[in-house]
Amino acid sequence: MALLDALVERLREIVGAESVISDPAELATYDCDGLTYHRATPGVVVLPDTAEQIAAIVRACADAGVPYVARGSGTGLSGGALPRTDGVLIVTSRMRRVLEVDAANQRAVVEPGVINLDVTRAARPYGYYFAPDPSSQQVCSIGGNVAENSGGAHCLKYGFTVNHVLACEVVTPDGEIVELTEGPGYDLLGAFVGSEGTLGITTKVTVRLTRLPETVRTLLAGFDSMERAGAAVSAIIADGVVPAAIEMMDALSIEAAEAAVSCGYPPGAGAVLIVELDGPASEVDAQFERVKELCAEAFELRVAADDTERGLIWRGRKSAFAAVGRISPDYIVQDGVIPRTMLPQVLARIDAISRERGVRVANVFHAGDGNLHPLVLFDGSEAGAGERAEEVSGRIIDLCIEHGGSITGEHGVGIDKAKHMPRMFTGEDLDTMQMVRCAFDPAGLCNPGKVYPTPRLCGEVPGRRKGVHPLVESGKADLF
Ligand SMILES: Cc1cc2nc3c(=O)[nH]c(=O)nc-3n(C[C@H](O)[C@H](O)[C@H](O)COP(=O)(O)OP(=O)(O)OC[C@H]3O[C@@H](n4cnc5c(N)ncnc54)[C@H](O)[C@@H]3O)c2cc1C
Repeated sequence: MALLDALVERLREIVGAESVISDPAELATYDCDGLTYHRATPGVVVLPDTAEQIAAIVRACADAGVPYVARGSGTGLSGGALPRTDGVLIVTSRMRRVLEVDAANQRAVVEPGVINLDVTRAARPYGYYFAPDPSSQQVCSIGGNVAENSGGAHCLKYGFTVNHVLACEVVTPDGEIVELTEGPGYDLLGAFVGSEGTLGITTKVTVRLTRLPETVRTLLAGFDSMERAGAAVSAIIADGVVPAAIEMMDALSIEAAEAAVSCGYPPGAGAVLIVELDGPASEVDAQFERVKELCAEAFELRVAADDTERGLIWRGRKSAFAAVGRISPDYIVQDGVIPRTMLPQVLARIDAISRERGVRVANVFHAGDGNLHPLVLFDGSEAGAGERAEEVSGRIIDLCIEHGGSITGEHGVGIDKAKHMPRMFTGEDLDTMQMVRCAFDPAGLCNPGKVYPTPRLCGEVPGRRKGVHPLVESGKADLF
């Protein structure tokens, strides 16, 4: 802690005393992100205004050998922005300027703390919007979106954040300000997007803007079972239709949404599907009729007549995570991915595990791209309930891997899923990823302890690799 105390003075010189938080009561505000069961009070919080200040902060940390973590809005769901008690938390929330909207070239340049939806608000007068739309888009930052490669309901058609980032200004772990762009040479921008704050801190982002669609049409279909709703999803995709979004909710998540926002979904539904198509009117109208035919097994179909009705249909889905608080005091949000065709089998297995362990699981998910978000419900005040929920949550991840899927679709690995990485990757795979990390951050000070279970190559504690790494032995790489 002596290291940190000496550093605090230097931080005050860089950003001014009013932008450094060291009071324990104020520090507590930053002790977790959206994954609230991992908590750590940061050693110190700093609120910079410029890239130059961030570069100076990072250099000061490097000189002092103190770790640091970047934080945007703190809505992450994998503990990526969990602070270090012995480190600095660099919060970008004051860097909220949209610097440029270049409609002619379909791009905007924004600071990292800009809220996702504010990019669309700035672009809309020109007929454009920012397509990646995490459900948290009213509060999450572009810096966080870049770090997590965030997705959202409409990423089925438009792709994830990585498909909408054209350049990033980055403060590297040695405190240099560099520009990563698309272009010839190695795809360093591609490596940076989705690196969960471990390769540097982005201080300016150039994003792609997408033309607002001529038409949007949305329907809500009520089915008596998840199997029937899942079959409709497969049929729509197999037919060659690429909806802007297909979202599914089960009976328990519908119950929660009703309790929270009275969304008026079809009573008695075992599952609802929201299907949205967008694009040129003639194409959308034709495909919409086809989607209605493919949802023939639904016992109720509602088509939104206007934007107000569309908003009502989305209201239940968008409130789903928060709404679960109405039916359970605590819950874990999982984020596994499976091939779409495996939806019926995997959902049936989740149901069986839930019954066997007596732990309720509400399912709400991006059905079109097989990205499940099971909400594992529990009451933390009940002895052993949290552990049982953790176990069920882990078994759901196992199911996703067994069915050819992944441990995360869009929320990232962070601290939460680092332990699952060896289930998907071999030791050599993980070491190779570490080599990339070490190339950016040889001292291991940039968001250490996240993503990888046992970092072994850049001297991060705990668990140095024993023996020589195969890539080093073969002369293909150096150990940093
Ligand atoms: C209710 C709710 C709904 C959500 N829905 C979705 C969804 O639909 N899709 C989805 O993908 N996610 C979703 N999320 C998760 C979360 O909102 C996203 O991961 C979001 O991108 C995080 O942004 P943030 O600004 O809050 O980042 P933070 O939580 O502050 O940080 C997230 C990670 O980014 C790093 N980071 C932050 N800023 C920078 C920077 N400038 N440079 C480098 N690294 C940085 C942090 O170190 C951390 O590792 C949801 C979360 C909630 C609470």
